[in-house]
Amino acid sequence: MPDKNVKVNLKNLSFSDSVSYYFDKAAPFTGAPQGLLDQIKTCNSIYKMNFPVKYGNEVRVIEAYRVQHSHHRMPTKGGIRYSLQVDQDEVMALAALMTYKCALVDVPFGGAKGGIKISPRQTSPEILENITRRYTTELVKKNFIGPGIDVPAPDYGTGEREMAWILDTYVTLNPGEINGYGCVTGKPVSQNGIHGRTEATGRGVVYALNEICSYADDMKDIKLTKGLDGKRVIVQGLGNVGYHTARIIREYGAKVIAIAEADGAVYDENGIDIDDLYKYRQEKKSVKGYPKGKVIADSISALELDCDILIPAALERQITEKNAPRIKAKIIAEAANGPITPAAEQILLKKGVMIIPDIYVNAGGVTVSYFEWLKNLSHVRFGRMQKRWEEKHQTNFIKLIEDLTGKTVPKARIDSLIHGADEIDLVNSGLEDTMIEAYQDIREFKKRRKSEIDIRTAAFAVSINKIKNSYYAMGIFP
Ligand code: NAD
Repeated sequence: MPDKNVKVNLKNLSFSDSVSYYFDKAAPFTGAPQGLLDQIKTCNSIYKMNFPVKYGNEVRVIEAYRVQHSHHRMPTKGGIRYSLQVDQDEVMALAALMTYKCALVDVPFGGAKGGIKISPRQTSPEILENITRRYTTELVKKNFIGPGIDVPAPDYGTGEREMAWILDTYVTLNPGEINGYGCVTGKPVSQNGIHGRTEATGRGVVYALNEICSYADDMKDIKLTKGLDGKRVIVQGLGNVGYHTARIIREYGAKVIAIAEADGAVYDENGIDIDDLYKYRQEKKSVKGYPKGKVIADSISALELDCDILIPAALERQITEKNAPRIKAKIIAEAANGPITPAAEQILLKKGVMIIPDIYVNAGGVTVSYFEWLKNLSHVRFGRMQKRWEEKHQTNFIKLIEDLTGKTVPKARIDSLIHGADEIDLVNSGLEDTMIEAYQDIREFKKRRKSEIDIRTAAFAVSINKIKNSYYAMGIFP
């Protein structure tokens, strides 16, 4: 238990110290003994590697990591990040967040994370492929990857392409392993991936916000109306998470008034056409010069614009004690991992901002990764066995209604009623259910403690309690 007399200097915390700080804040609400709390908090395995890779005529030494934060459930699970900011502290923090996230949304994995210190945008695809394959080989050598050991996924700077290289390397080194496809998730659908994984994190953020905004009394407390319809939203980052969040939240009637990217922000009070901006950025490699709306050169200042919901979806430590006093959003949803520092959080909570923590709001990615892993282990696409049966059953049912009433159901109604569930329908339904259930757990926990705790603390406490119970079930820590 942290000594209450020792005052933590929030301004000097590293990323992994920040995660530990949130853990310590929630621990007293769990009733777990100190030894168990220490075990849950600590990183179980840290593998730092250096390997040489050819860049044209020269050889460079690449620094990379894989951290398995918790082995209380196996396999461990977590993305792989390619960024020049990667270091051991960052990967440890991200791995710990994965443990708490998986427990919170009942995904039966321990947390892990990987990172390679490179700039993917300044590295050719050929060299990226060499680095990815070599990294996977290093993981295989040390038994740090496998469908029952540790299962990577995409994160910042990586996507389907990198996951396909990891898969190919792993199955080449493990011929005949029947469950080999489950060694990595976020794969292309053609490589045993699953429909809906690419957009899962962003879709999960929107399902979460839809649930959060559905409680009229909670919204009244922060002077907002119920529902997502008409909400003014700002998103930071137009990568995987930011793009899909911004695209999908518009389907719920929200208006995305600003997108902040690394090299500038675009602002338009009438709402931004996300696909149009995304296409522009893909072509020009920048948002600069975008002809619709206003381009703001100082990207980070766009987070301070007036809005209802702010969604940081780029990197950690974007909202600090420096810009927090100027943030005007009523809700901040941490689609990125760790975008708010603890010092900033203190300021925001005092201002009454509702902070939706990363361990909950961006859990959609790992949830659908879990579905992909299940699909790989069962060797069958979701919906394959029952789709036609469902359609026949529904058709018979409608015929019966028509016979009994003497009326004819219009064809358009019949088509929508008889549609059997495809893989994507089941994935999205499972994802929505997961996000709703987890929020209800957090909300109920918080309500039981009146105004004593904030949403992040409640989320951490719910998560720690679930991990505590699995240690108790194993007979460790009686
Ligand atoms: P990505 O690489 O696809 O996209 C990140 C985007 O952020 C890029 O477009 C980049 O240009 C932009 N960016 C970088 N620095 C910026 C800055 N200072 N200001 C504004 N934009 C900036 O990465 P991603 O997969 O979308 O991940 C984003 C965040 O979401 C990370 O924190 C990651 O850990 C977290 N996350 C990702 C997933 C997933 O499934 N990919 C799941 C959970 C959490």
